[in-house]
Amino acid sequence: SAPPRSVGDARLPLRPELADEVPYGAPQLDVPVLLNVNENPHAPSEAVVATIAREVAAAARGLHRYPDRDFTALREDLAAYLGRESGVRLAAEQVWAANGSNEVMLHLLQAFGGPGRTAVSFAPTYSMYPEYARDTHTRWVTGRRAEDFTLDVEVAVATIERERPSVVLLASPNNPTGTALPLAMVEAVLEAAARVEVADAPEAGGRRAGAVVVVDEAYAEFRRPGTPSALELLADHPNLAVSRTMSKAFAAAGLRLGYLAGSKPLVDALRVVRLPYHLSAVTQAAARGALAHHDELLAQVQSLRAERDALVAWLRAQTSRGAGLRVADSDANFVLFGTFDDRHAVWQGLLDRGVLIRETGPEGWLRVSVGTPDETAAFRDALTDVLTELE
Ligand code: PMP
Repeated sequence: SAPPRSVGDARLPLRPELADEVPYGAPQLDVPVLLNVNENPHAPSEAVVATIAREVAAAARGLHRYPDRDFTALREDLAAYLGRESGVRLAAEQVWAANGSNEVMLHLLQAFGGPGRTAVSFAPTYSMYPEYARDTHTRWVTGRRAEDFTLDVEVAVATIERERPSVVLLASPNNPTGTALPLAMVEAVLEAAARVEVADAPEAGGRRAGAVVVVDEAYAEFRRPGTPSALELLADHPNLAVSRTMSKAFAAAGLRLGYLAGSKPLVDALRVVRLPYHLSAVTQAAARGALAHHDELLAQVQSLRAERDALVAWLRAQTSRGAGLRVADSDANFVLFGTFDDRHAVWQGLLDRGVLIRETGPEGWLRVSVGTPDETAAFRDALTDVLTELE
């Protein structure tokens, strides 16, 4: 496909800061092995398809009416699922959802960012974050992650104290590195964020409200045993939002259902900025259908985790021009590996062999999603070939 062109057109009164922008998105190429956008490689089973079809048929009978604006039944199901998955009990009013976690995070920036305000994150991280900031006229600042792709807590706290953001975004497990943050690091950020007094925020007890911290746990279900979820910190931190998605663990990227857990006041703020009826009756029904199969889907996540660990081990045993490959520890369904003098040549070599991965992350690194065993085998064969050719 042709690379996207910038959207500037002299006949349209486009906002000047959008003139050189291109629509976000990885190339959608027609290639046999797609390991580039961290999807779940397993299509829903016939049992999942049958439940979704039944739920959607029931919803279709009421499509002449607008859907439940507050998607109460879905929020109850999501709260129950999070309780089972993480052991943290949540009320339905503490859960929010939208069309993908991208929209959930846009809602957060709409409510808590805005003109005159700042959002902070730490790179390398998910490349959509600056777009939420741009689209809500929020000033955007990135600090750096540590060498091992976790946070350098001193740098993070100093950045927050200096920039005085109203929103801090942390991905854990992080994309594109796969890194999960220890809870102590998240707590240090939460405390620094709570101390910031946001200049135009409401005041209580003689001080202004602090920043909201968003922990983006899109890949949480893939975390390794012993890695806790930031959901565990919710009870003590009203300024925390933990974002999740059905796109990865639930094998439902096409469904577009992201959600978050937070304090009730935080969720109530999001209800103000959402469009009316933003979650269609069809989406609500299909999501509930998929959630009913959480046991089966989480068993599949278990096998993807094993596949991921095997891929990390295999990559660590490979060499490129005499040097061993570097591979980031991964708590996600993808692996960041490198480093290559010419990563584009490696990416292209794989594509020539029918395997599409992602050229992203710090210079010299590449990211590959965990596929089915056959797809991962195709990737290993292609990479072996490419590295031999480039010797
Ligand atoms: N957060 C992270 C870290 C991601 O990698 C992605 C998807 N690539 C998302 C959020 C958005 O996912 P979705 O909108 O499908 O829920």
